[in-house]
Amino acid sequence: LNRRLAEFGTTIFAEMSALAVRTGSINLGQGFPDTDGPEEVREAAVRALRDGRGNQYPPGPGIPELRTAVAAHQQRWYGLPYDPDTEVLVTAGATEAIAASLLALLEPGDEVIALEPYYDSYAACIALAGGTRVPVTLRPSPADAAAERRYHLDLDELRDAVTDRTRLILLNTPHNPTGTVLSRDELAAIAELACERDLLVVTDEVYEHLVFEGEHVPMASFPGMRERTVTIGSAGKTFSFTGWKVGWVTGTPELVGAVRSAKQFLTYVSAGPFQYAVAEALALPDDYFHGLREDLRRKRDILSDGLAEAGFQVFRPSGTYFVTTDITALGEKDGLAFCLGLPERCGVVAVPNSVFYDDKEAGRSLVRFAFCKQDEVLRDAVSRLQRL
Ligand code: PMP
Ligand code: GLN
Repeated sequence: LNRRLAEFGTTIFAEMSALAVRTGSINLGQGFPDTDGPEEVREAAVRALRDGRGNQYPPGPGIPELRTAVAAHQQRWYGLPYDPDTEVLVTAGATEAIAASLLALLEPGDEVIALEPYYDSYAACIALAGGTRVPVTLRPSPADAAAERRYHLDLDELRDAVTDRTRLILLNTPHNPTGTVLSRDELAAIAELACERDLLVVTDEVYEHLVFEGEHVPMASFPGMRERTVTIGSAGKTFSFTGWKVGWVTGTPELVGAVRSAKQFLTYVSAGPFQYAVAEALALPDDYFHGLREDLRRKRDILSDGLAEAGFQVFRPSGTYFVTTDITALGEKDGLAFCLGLPERCGVVAVPNSVFYDDKEAGRSLVRFAFCKQDEVLRDAVSRLQRL
């Protein structure tokens, strides 16, 4: 294993899901729904398979139907026009979109600012591209009995992180693992900074429809940003088909063309029949998207309330399907040790947030639970954790 990758080992998600299987625990570690997405979308995939659509290499940028549907989605939800032929690229999940974007846009030695805690593939892909990650840490609001705690971006810290070597800001909103949804004002300030310092922004918006408080505002919608922003989406999150690995990128022809140059040598194309199905899914009525959000809001509250009752300090998320907790109040200090012992103690698997930090101290006592699970599974997990 080369030096660029050596520090990364096995992803925490694979490790923790294996632990869940080995111990027969409830898996609230890796974020994947335990209920598949809409029946009609599954049927659309079956139809495509049967009709022989997409069983051979589909077009490199993605099938035209899906590129058109992605462009229509950006227009419908955000009023952002994209040309399906030149400004949309289909990828093998958001994971490939992240990798291809960074490989395409970074020169060795470029600095990338990423919000910390960061999704694990960001650090690995920055390293693969020869870049240097510069974390800007989201900080929890002070403990206050009257208010629930949230995470905030310190805009001064962000501004101070920009140097002459900064090439891009890698943004993620709604944010995994903290559940933070960056506000319009925060995003506007980031946009201003990007324009002022002539930075690109790669923005991972895979949880765009999972927002419970506030609203999702795409980075590309701010003045001056369309021409410097690569936006990433995923059918895994929006339609609960994480196994299909269909994602996409939108941006200017220059930026999307660059990402495509990298993508063609990573996977060449993404799986065909699923693209037809996702094209149909993106056209589902508003009710589908609202229903997904409301379902997850209920699940968020079942898990957040249950964890609070069990003695965890809970950061109730404004978006995503993760809740971050602090275990200090339980008399615990180390999230990794806690997560490794949890299956044995009560049959539940969670993820230690420290793996998403360079500043290990900042994440040491934090643990993430996923709530994209059936209500009864969440209730079972909560009752197990309350017996800790
Ligand atoms: N970005 C973030 C923030 C995620 O949480 C995930 C899901 N694990 C991904 C990207 C990867 O998405 P996909 O499964 O579409 O590759
Ligand atoms: N994004 C999911 C999570 O944060 C899992 C993705 C993965 O396993 N790579 O849990």
